[in-house]
Amino acid sequence: MIVTRFAPSPNGPLHLGHAYSAVVAHDLARERGGRFLLRIEDIDGARSRPELTDDFRRDLEWLGLEWDEVPAQSTRLDSYEAAARRLMDDGLLYRCTCTRAEIQALEPRMGPEGLVYPGTCKGRHLDLARPSALRLDMDAAMARAGEIFWEDETAGRIAADPRELGDVVLVRKDAPASYHLAATLDDAADGVTLVTRGADLFFASHIHRLLQELLCLPVPTWHHHALLLEEDGKKLAKSRRSGERGLGLKEMREAGEDGSALAQNLRMGQMPCGIALSRFPHGET
Ligand code: GLU
Ligand code: ZN
Repeated sequence: MIVTRFAPSPNGPLHLGHAYSAVVAHDLARERGGRFLLRIEDIDGARSRPELTDDFRRDLEWLGLEWDEVPAQSTRLDSYEAAARRLMDDGLLYRCTCTRAEIQALEPRMGPEGLVYPGTCKGRHLDLARPSALRLDMDAAMARAGEIFWEDETAGRIAADPRELGDVVLVRKDAPASYHLAATLDDAADGVTLVTRGADLFFASHIHRLLQELLCLPVPTWHHHALLLEEDGKKLAKSRRSGERGLGLKEMREAGEDGSALAQNLRMGQMPCGIALSRFPHGET
């Protein structure tokens, strides 16, 4: 059975881009007689605002969607710790005490997701009094995994190669996991068979596929959908300048707009004025 999910982080209110993402995931499951899950990704510490999650549920209801909710990430920290321990025991993680400023000072190269960590702490004797993150030793991990592939419904079969991203953080200084580790473990635990999300996270799937291999997790298929863009081609702004029509779902809901009609328009590719869908559904713009 097909299982999809919508996995918002309560760091800010949901906007039109989230609505599109939720509708896509919902419809892919329903069209094939499957399940659509909601998972709250709330491990962002200080940035997480628990009071937003009720709004998220109301927003989805307003869009006319039905879902099954699975436990929020904050209740699953033990499973993240266990997986990190396993990778550590396998010699695939190393501690890093660098601050963002220290990394920036090294003038690292830019990868598809921003600064690429140059591996400074690998094999270095660290001051353990400083807070540390755990990074994946990408070369060692790739050597362990061998050649692996992932399948995207729109982009086809892809060789998993996250090396461009460098040694990514799997355990943050302030949380027992990073997005990559938590989402990969949860998708497996929730039985997700089709990971649907925006093309802005296309590159993350290379890492997630690698983690599945290292942790012996089931391998889903992916579906990266096109992104909603502002008229000028920029990524949808979370909040627009005052005076402009807001794109927040709560805002529209409370203004009495028809959520089901909005969802229907998004399905038909009819975007509100000033909004467009990106042309390349697989994120290689
Ligand atoms: N919590 C992530 C976000 O809101 C979801 C990413 C995903 O769907 O994997 O961006
Ligand atoms: Zn470091």
